[in-house]
Amino acid sequence: MLQIRTYKVAEGRMRSVSLKVRVSSRTHRRLTWKICTTPLDPAAAFRNVSLQDIMTQPTHADAIFHFGTGTPPVGVPSLQMIGGKAGMLCNMSMAGLPVPAGFVMTPGMSRTAADKTAEMIPPALAEALVAVEEVSGSTLGGTQKPLLLAIRSSAAIAVPGTGDAVINVGLTDDTVEVLARESGELRFAYDCYCRFIQNYAQVVMGDDPAAFEDVLSLYMEERGYVSDTEMQGSDMRELASRFKAQYESNNGEGFPQDPFLQIRASCAALLRAWAAPRAKTHRKLQGLGEDQGLAIIVQAMVNSQLGSHSGVGRITTRHNQSGEPQQLGEFLQNATGPDLVARLRPSQSMQGLQDAMPTAFAELSVAATLLEAHITDGLDIDFALDHGKLWFLTAKLCRRSAQAALHMALDFADQGLLTKQQALLRVDPLSLDKLLHSTIDPDEKRTIIATGLPASPGAVSGLIIFDAEEARDLASQGRRVILVRPETLPEDIRGLHAAEGVLTTRGGMTSHAAVIARGMGKPCVSGASTLKIDAKEGTLTAPGMVLNRYDVITLDGSTGQVLKGAVPTAKPEVSGDFAKLLSWADEFRRMAVRANAETLQDARMAKDFGAEGIGLCRTEHMFFEGDRLVAMREMILADKEKDRRAALAKVLPMLRGDFISLFEIMAGLPVTIRLLDPPLHEFLPDGGPEIEIVAKSLNADAAVLHRRIAELKEQNPMLGHRGVRLLLSYPEIVEMQARAIFEAVAAVHQSSGTPPIPEIMVPLVVSRMELDLVRARVDAMAIAVEKETGVVLAYRVGTMIELPRAALKADDIAKTAEFFSFGTNDLTQTTFGISRDDSSRFINEYQTKGIFARDPFVTLDVEGVGELVEIAVQRGRATRPDIHLGICGEHGGDPDSIAFCEAKGLDYVSCSPYRVPIARLAAAQAHLRLKDKI
Ligand code: PEP
Ligand code: MG
Repeated sequence: MLQIRTYKVAEGRMRSVSLKVRVSSRTHRRLTWKICTTPLDPAAAFRNVSLQDIMTQPTHADAIFHFGTGTPPVGVPSLQMIGGKAGMLCNMSMAGLPVPAGFVMTPGMSRTAADKTAEMIPPALAEALVAVEEVSGSTLGGTQKPLLLAIRSSAAIAVPGTGDAVINVGLTDDTVEVLARESGELRFAYDCYCRFIQNYAQVVMGDDPAAFEDVLSLYMEERGYVSDTEMQGSDMRELASRFKAQYESNNGEGFPQDPFLQIRASCAALLRAWAAPRAKTHRKLQGLGEDQGLAIIVQAMVNSQLGSHSGVGRITTRHNQSGEPQQLGEFLQNATGPDLVARLRPSQSMQGLQDAMPTAFAELSVAATLLEAHITDGLDIDFALDHGKLWFLTAKLCRRSAQAALHMALDFADQGLLTKQQALLRVDPLSLDKLLHSTIDPDEKRTIIATGLPASPGAVSGLIIFDAEEARDLASQGRRVILVRPETLPEDIRGLHAAEGVLTTRGGMTSHAAVIARGMGKPCVSGASTLKIDAKEGTLTAPGMVLNRYDVITLDGSTGQVLKGAVPTAKPEVSGDFAKLLSWADEFRRMAVRANAETLQDARMAKDFGAEGIGLCRTEHMFFEGDRLVAMREMILADKEKDRRAALAKVLPMLRGDFISLFEIMAGLPVTIRLLDPPLHEFLPDGGPEIEIVAKSLNADAAVLHRRIAELKEQNPMLGHRGVRLLLSYPEIVEMQARAIFEAVAAVHQSSGTPPIPEIMVPLVVSRMELDLVRARVDAMAIAVEKETGVVLAYRVGTMIELPRAALKADDIAKTAEFFSFGTNDLTQTTFGISRDDSSRFINEYQTKGIFARDPFVTLDVEGVGELVEIAVQRGRATRPDIHLGICGEHGGDPDSIAFCEAKGLDYVSCSPYRVPIARLAAAQAHLRLKDKI
């Protein structure tokens, strides 16, 4: 077997590479390739180009670029202008590979070429066609060697419905006869003509291809043929006339016999498809404007249908799961590209091709390796053989798993073909998620019950359980359960911990279930609104199906699918590549990356993933465990301050213990602790029998509990008595939390000698006065603890900026706040006036209608919410130039939002522990892009 590794191509304009290749056990062959080592920025063309880049490129210059002429293209076209398909052809040509001669017209030139009102074919197009004729040695419409063309579209970002091609352009009643005569194959020539008429009728005239299929069936029936392979040359000739008659009856005009007219009409058809409403809708959904045009490729066809050494094939240069170099593929003798796609006959493997045509295979193999090195990426390459002569038709980036993409980027960098920075920009940060979570094999059969939001990635199977307590009980017996709820509440936290995954029928990407599941790294599907839960009856009803408690379902949190039964899942292996990539990312990142974590398990995981501190410790989650919840409820029920303080005193040592552990785990890294945020009713039971049970456990009168629950009920608790408002009503909560923090600091200082520096964060602030009042309590407590312990305490007090007024009054708030952390979940909710828990019901519709390009709870709305962030940054810094700025909303783990934070100069982003690797890479990419203005 031929073994060739990618090798380094030095910088320079043109150079030759000569290789001695063993093609069989006895023969060697020397292959020499001329290489132009300046590829057309493939990274920009074939990957996720930033939309901004595409929109700002000049795309309308009228120009034509040649390829396959034996000389490199004159002038390097912008890939945004000519699209990825044409860019790859130019690249293959520049790499010195044999590419059938052709050219690409820029969008402006394509429009000129398609202009039906023009009397003459544009001179530039005529000249370009002459050049193709010269190189290919054939003539358009010629009485000898007629030139046949393939006309295809090429766009920087293709959208569905615009990928049509017209092939065999140039065939007419006359040229088909020349083709038949010269090839000595009447059947082949008329087969080409028939395909062309049908293809042209469909793509250019919009005819229904079924009409032509009917003509073929009728003809075969008349002749008693079972298969079209029985048809002879004379049959094909007759079929071509019937196809032409069908064409005329469909369109009221004869099949065009002028090759220039065929070219013009083909170009017009491709542009029409580009401008069709369907394509426009797709572009709108992708956030693309209409000023990006379509380039058109015109290229000589290769005859791959005749002779034993002819055919078409595809070779892939990398293993799609591992990313290791490996040349796999297939070859179909005497066939065209569409035959291979349609799998007309069984194809041969690469080994088969090597055995049959060792020289051609060796050339192919070497050239594929060279092209890969030139493009610096794994490729799928389409090739053709014409009587043993190898041609490269198209190439595109090969399919790859997340692991393979990562491995390839690092491999090319290790070979010196990419810089570390380029390699970093190659990897999609979100793909790292797949390396950390279980997945369902894409080939595995799925029975989809419902589709909700992909709120937290990973795949898991388990028993349907509707109750958090039962989830805990079963999990403690070793059963795998999925917690299924309309939505979750903070009191479900223990059930969430116990469950393998969470399914909710309400709630968006930042609902409680989604946020918590992401934090815990558990799969979650939220807002699966077609499902109905009847917890009393123990049923989960999907359209056309009823499932029961204890039935097994599988969640795919990466796609939002809920599947019936247990579907096998696989845990991907995290290889050394992962750590290597992240260490490179750290070299090029400016912003720090912290984690949102409060449990010790999460904090440890965050640290392992490289978090540089805790950016948000939601202390309310520390109150939902056993004794603490009881004490908290006692505090809520107490009428007098004295009783409240007594209840809080029970919680104090537990919180202090948690803070000590958090400080120890973070070992000197910053820890931002947010004071109590949610409304108090979230700590009380929902109602019914649970109230009686809780009353009993509290030794309280159930009627009192009922009354207190009624008192705490609010119409809109998210905008009610929560956050700083609650802290001002019950300052004893602030005091208890501050004491727990400071005593923990003192304890860790004494035990380790290194004083942790906590950042105490006040939620939901809208004015400086609120912050001043809380701060006074915190400062007083610090003095008290210093006196008691003898430890000098260092700490910072700051605020979340999560309400529009806070952003607007940031200059004043910064007089007291030493740091701001943007709580973009609430800031998005309050800026839009859209509840983050109910948005899933209609946000999809907004996206389909193109009102929102992205879900603003997932990717920061830069125009609106972003402006508030920017205002707060400017005003905060105007008052306090060294104010420390971070983000702790869910957007802190979203790559596009991270790019915004980089652009606004924030100091850190904070996100769920599992998102830390994504944020590390995204922060590096954002910094590199901003620095190099990519
Ligand atoms: C926020 O509002 O962005 C935030 C981090 O706080 P929470 O999600 O806890 O409301
Ligand atoms: Mg908030």
